[in-house]
Amino acid sequence: MQVINHMRLTFDARPENESFARVAVSAFTVPMNPTMDVLSDVRTAISEAVTNAIVHAYGERGGEIELDAALREDGRLLLFVRDRGCGIADIARAMQPFFTTQPEKERSGMGFAVMQSFMDGIRVESVPGEGTTVYLEKQIRTQPPLPVNNRPRSEDIQ
Ligand code: ATP
Ligand code: MG
Repeated sequence: MQVINHMRLTFDARPENESFARVAVSAFTVPMNPTMDVLSDVRTAISEAVTNAIVHAYGERGGEIELDAALREDGRLLLFVRDRGCGIADIARAMQPFFTTQPEKERSGMGFAVMQSFMDGIRVESVPGEGTTVYLEKQIRTQPPLPVNNRPRSEDIQ
């Protein structure tokens, strides 16, 4: 399936960049005319994925997060959030609702559960000591967007 639009960002794993990533992905998605519900689901899921990379991957030493967004011609949005941090030893366990390694910081362990319920697809790859990649998918529209030149002009509609 062909990718019709793509963007890639690299930013520091700092708390203030969680909202930056959310806004960037929203801005990338809006031209596809998502419903408010779909946009809100995507915003929530990307926040959870990026927050995880910020709070779990690097600890105090910090590091970088890579974010890719791609739109396929069938209207599916693909997101990739990649860190080169500590990795996850047991992915299945980490993805269980209420599992957290930071209970003392009042984390609820619901990030992966939220990503799972708000998106149409999720896959996690991780190697301890090397990092983690979270793949998220969401169907934004069922019809591919019309090419700009083929869109009806306002005078055609009147
Ligand atoms: P919440 O998201 O509710 O604040 P949480 O982040 O602990 O809590 P999840 O997002 O479900 O819950 O993640 C579960 C666990 O998976 C985390 O506690 C952490 O141990 C591990 N984890 C998640 N993402 C990463 C990552 N990018 N790098 C290393 N460990 C991770
Ligand atoms: Mg989390």
